[in-house]
Amino acid sequence: MSNEGLLVIISAPSGVGKTSLCKEVLKFFPDLRHSVSYTTRAPRPGEKDGLDYQFVSEEKFQEMIDGGMFAEWAEIHGNRYGTAANALKEYLRSGNEVILDLDGQGARQIREEFPNSIYVYILPPSWKELEKRLRSRRTDSNEDIKRRLENAKEELQYAEHYDYIVINDAFNVAVSTLRSIIVAEKCRRKRVLKQVEALFNLSHAG
Ligand code: 5GP
Repeated sequence: MSNEGLLVIISAPSGVGKTSLCKEVLKFFPDLRHSVSYTTRAPRPGEKDGLDYQFVSEEKFQEMIDGGMFAEWAEIHGNRYGTAANALKEYLRSGNEVILDLDGQGARQIREEFPNSIYVYILPPSWKELEKRLRSRRTDSNEDIKRRLENAKEELQYAEHYDYIVINDAFNVAVSTLRSIIVAEKCRRKRVLKQVEALFNLSHAG
């Protein structure tokens, strides 16, 4: 496993600020890629196809499920979301680092196939703040906000299964915490062993 890339799974209830956090953290790691998911959800204003998501029809998504093309998929807030298997496996096999933004169901499915992945859960500082953030986003309808808040309560139960928990109160602190987690994980012996062997001409480092 030492030459397999690092896979970081990030989950959070909707509205916590996970997308902004991931975008900021990605700037620090030139080799870290954000895997673009497929979704049947309609694009929000400003979202770009192929960049934020691959926006597809229900029919296309179903075809992909039937063709076994997803590493995981889930139905969330009435829409479907999924991670394409081939691109992810190929990317990791060539030693690259990938960040996946998944809900709790998707994370559980991925853990079975990629047991070495790292699980980070992002929490809001309070329920009140979560509601405030969801409302200030101004991209979801009232009904959608209500549904996302209700789902957040269920979704939070997954947090206990994660390796790390980050509370996104002050944004910059959360960014540096997440960044530190990734740095530490990149330094794990099993991930740098090959490099150490090559650098110091060792046959059995560690
Ligand atoms: P949003 O509609 O706010 O962009 O995302 C809603 C939820 O879908 C978030 O919790 C996000 O983590 C999750 N999500 C996004 N992409 C995927 C995916 O490919 N698979 C799964 N299981 N969840 C996803």
